[in-house]
Amino acid sequence: MKIIEDFHTHTKFSHGIGSIEDNVQVALRKGLKTIAITDHGPCYKGYGINIGDFLQIKEEIKYLQEKYEGRINILLGIEANIIDSSGNIDIDYSVLKDIDILLVGFHFDIVYGNYLKEIRSNMRRNTTLKSKIDKELYLEIKEVNTNSMIESIKKYDIDIITHIGDKFPVDVMSVGEVAKDRNTFIEINNFHRFPTGKQIKELAEIKELKFAIGSDAHRPIDVGNFKIAIRKLRESLINEDRILNKII
Ligand SMILES: [Zn+2]
Ligand SMILES: [Zn+2]
Repeated sequence: MKIIEDFHTHTKFSHGIGSIEDNVQVALRKGLKTIAITDHGPCYKGYGINIGDFLQIKEEIKYLQEKYEGRINILLGIEANIIDSSGNIDIDYSVLKDIDILLVGFHFDIVYGNYLKEIRSNMRRNTTLKSKIDKELYLEIKEVNTNSMIESIKKYDIDIITHIGDKFPVDVMSVGEVAKDRNTFIEINNFHRFPTGKQIKELAEIKELKFAIGSDAHRPIDVGNFKIAIRKLRESLINEDRILNKII
């Protein structure tokens, strides 16, 4: 199995280490036909792009697309952050209208950030954990996260929901139902642990829900690296016709 499209890569415009061209060159070397440059939205403090750089990113991709015309398709994308419980993201329409592909995911807890921090430090301190109050808070956070993600999917034309269930708790199946209705793909991420193969298998029970594979490369060398994603894909038993990426 060879996947020849990578819809999720980072560069040094956010917290990757390579240039856009570095990513493109690795993609070419590995025989990819499509690569998306999807740096983090600006609200991911210390990691996201400076929105003032967006024009430069756009121009650079335009230049590279001309340079490598006929060899590879380079998509201008963003991995946006959900920033409130109404599902708003940190990219406005003046930028959205220019991009080819919109990825959205959680990178920090938007609503109950402090609660979550508290729970996490409790978990670290106390391995037996799960006092009733922690559980209640956890469920509350999960519900808020789930609702905000659903609102986001309804509000925007999101192509791919990235690493669902990673970093912050979300009711994956509820999101999957709405994603199916909105034709939004659920990512099989190579870099993060979640969603696991088992979760993807469960999600696949939602008929007509589709999936997209992303390396989530933060180093050029990892562009087109789908080793773990393929393992998850196999575990999930999903048919290749439910995958957005071209597979040869
Ligand atoms: Zn991410
Ligand atoms: Zn990413």
